[in-house]
Amino acid sequence: MTCIEAQSLITPFINDELDIQRLEAFMNHINHCGECKEELEVYYTLLTGMKQLDDDKNLSGDFHMHFINKLKKTEERIKRKKLQKVRKRIILICSILMVSIITSISIKEYVVDDIINEEQQQQINSNDIHLRYYFFRDRDSDLERYITQNYEKIIKLNTNNPYNIKK
Ligand SMILES: [Zn+2]
Repeated sequence: MTCIEAQSLITPFINDELDIQRLEAFMNHINHCGECKEELEVYYTLLTGMKQLDDDKNLSGDFHMHFINKLKKTEERIKRKKLQKVRKRIILICSILMVSIITSISIKEYVVDDIINEEQQQQINSNDIHLRYYFFRDRDSDLERYITQNYEKIIKLNTNNPYNIKK
């Protein structure tokens, strides 16, 4: 900011009409330019004195202290605004993170659930195969048992058969 730009902002500054960006640039210039700071103090004293007269107030004795306080308060205001901005950004980043974490968790759950379902389905299928296998094995052993139990009968039947090759 040039001295001409800074001096054009003196009245808006005294009337608290500057937005935070212009206020910050203005304060930055005032803190580094003795000439403009002096100019500002003169205007500040004049304008505040006139305002106090207009409001029928007693003129406050120490305009310099008023001016220093005004600068201090402005610096604090800028700091507060900056902190608010940082806080807002942190909140925004946190919200984005939360949303992305939640989304990734739900995607993961969905995928994992799908995999688990598939595995369970495979387990069921293989159980089914096992069941069938045991069932057939059991049938086999039933047949064997039947044969063993009725061996004599079967042999007899066989020997009584007129078409038996042995005869
Ligand atoms: Zn200057």
